[in-house]
Amino acid sequence: MSTSVAAPASDTRATTVPLWIGGQAITSESSREGEVTNPSTGAVIRRVPFAQAADIDAAVRAASAALPEWRATPPLRRARILSRFRELMEQHQKELAALISEEHGKVFLDAMGEVQRGIEVVEFATGAPHLLKGEHSGSVGRDVDAHSRLQPVGVCAGNTPFNFPAMVPMWMFPMALACGNTFILKPSEKDPSPSIRIAELLKESGLPDGVFNVVHGDKEAVDAILHHPGIAAVSFVGSTPIAKYIYATAAANGKRVQALGGAKNHAVVMPDADLDFTADALIGAAYGSAGERCMAISAVVAVGDAADPLVEKIAERARRLKTGPSLAEGMDMGPLVTGAHRDRVKGYVDAGVSEGATLVVDGRALQVAGHERGFFLGPSLFDQVMPAMSIYQDEIFGPVLIVLRAASLDEAIALVNRNPYGNGVALFTNSGGAARKFEDEIEVGMVGINVPIPVPMAFYSFGGWKQSLFGDLHVHGMEGVYFYTRTKAVTTRWVKDDVQTSAFHMPTLGGR
Ligand code: NAD
Repeated sequence: MSTSVAAPASDTRATTVPLWIGGQAITSESSREGEVTNPSTGAVIRRVPFAQAADIDAAVRAASAALPEWRATPPLRRARILSRFRELMEQHQKELAALISEEHGKVFLDAMGEVQRGIEVVEFATGAPHLLKGEHSGSVGRDVDAHSRLQPVGVCAGNTPFNFPAMVPMWMFPMALACGNTFILKPSEKDPSPSIRIAELLKESGLPDGVFNVVHGDKEAVDAILHHPGIAAVSFVGSTPIAKYIYATAAANGKRVQALGGAKNHAVVMPDADLDFTADALIGAAYGSAGERCMAISAVVAVGDAADPLVEKIAERARRLKTGPSLAEGMDMGPLVTGAHRDRVKGYVDAGVSEGATLVVDGRALQVAGHERGFFLGPSLFDQVMPAMSIYQDEIFGPVLIVLRAASLDEAIALVNRNPYGNGVALFTNSGGAARKFEDEIEVGMVGINVPIPVPMAFYSFGGWKQSLFGDLHVHGMEGVYFYTRTKAVTTRWVKDDVQTSAFHMPTLGGR
């Protein structure tokens, strides 16, 4: 596959990204707006309106009006519309990936992978008729049967982060729609365009107007969602402080809520691991997408003798990485999403040095010729990091990998389990016993054994533990089905013989 794709020309698209309500692009009356930049050039390429309460209300009205017909549409028909959407997503995968690369800054092949992982959730959601099957028990009592039904929740909303502008929304809405709900998406204001293109493709797939809507904005738009009485459920993915706020506020307003938060993902490396294989795996997991992945490995825990050779192998590979414009051929890493975020990440590299960690590879001086205004930062690698340092304590969310050392697997597991986050973790080893112990004792939601980024397939559920998830249910897989449905238990009596009984005691149907 070619990695060379022309950047979408800004002048062929509206300079202001629209809202999408009731099946059409809408111009917001809001006086507030944000700027969307191309991180590779630093140029402002679009403007994005920050929706006001009236816009959110219009979206809720459209989603509420579409709900009765959509929830009554047989799951098989809903699945067929999603099937057409999946085909369209595949046809337009390169176009979407180029749009993501342009606004987010990740390299094109990485953006293609993001869209692919989103498509896989749609693929899973097309199994709606099977996924929505309830349980049935015949003869729970004389002439009495029992069954359960999974019914839609109502109007659902999703609020998503900048780092996966297509995939994270697709963790949510395909499942919500398959289950018979209508949906309002509030994507990140930093890269809002892929959501609008997705809305257009959903319409082209035959999705009725109003079933899927998109609003943009910041806290004000999100607050209007959290307080709107017409919204039944809220899904959120983003940083931990905002996840906590969303969870508490949505719950206080009587909504069902799942809020996925930030991460500090460790890779524990045993001395018996194949260190070349491990270094190759870690380099992509740490620096891919410039470290702006919720499942990026940001902390390596080297056990025993693994440390020195491993640091050398990672450093050698990190120095060879090519950092440049997201749509240029052959780049491993693009820029960070904004200038402010680049400066924040650079500040952590400064802090690591002043806190006494050993900076083995320093990405701070990187210049990309011809793109001096782009938000670039080269890969950095720290060794001899202590748990009290801010580069270990905080989620940096950039191309900075740190190495800590542990004397044993027990010590490494204890270190990981003390960390407040629990999103992803990996173990590199050739020992089945070590792997089994690790899998059993580690307090993290997604675990990889010799797999650096263990993002579950769409037919499993994605989600962390501890400060990485607020709520009970993960996204997609069967937990996604349970989040977007309410269970109704039905008990039915059809009397075969013409016998009627009155009972004034507590019914014990199976008792006689
Ligand atoms: P963020 O928390 O800043 O923003 C996420 C969303 O919340 C955006 O749509 C934003 O507009 C909105 N928002 C921002 N401030 C808000 C406020 N005060 N009130 C209400 N809404 C607000 O996150 P981000 O910087 O866009 O994304 C990066 C973060 O997301 C990282 O912490 C990363 O780990 C996390 N993330 C987690 C997962 C996961 O699966 N757990 C996946 C992807 C990203």
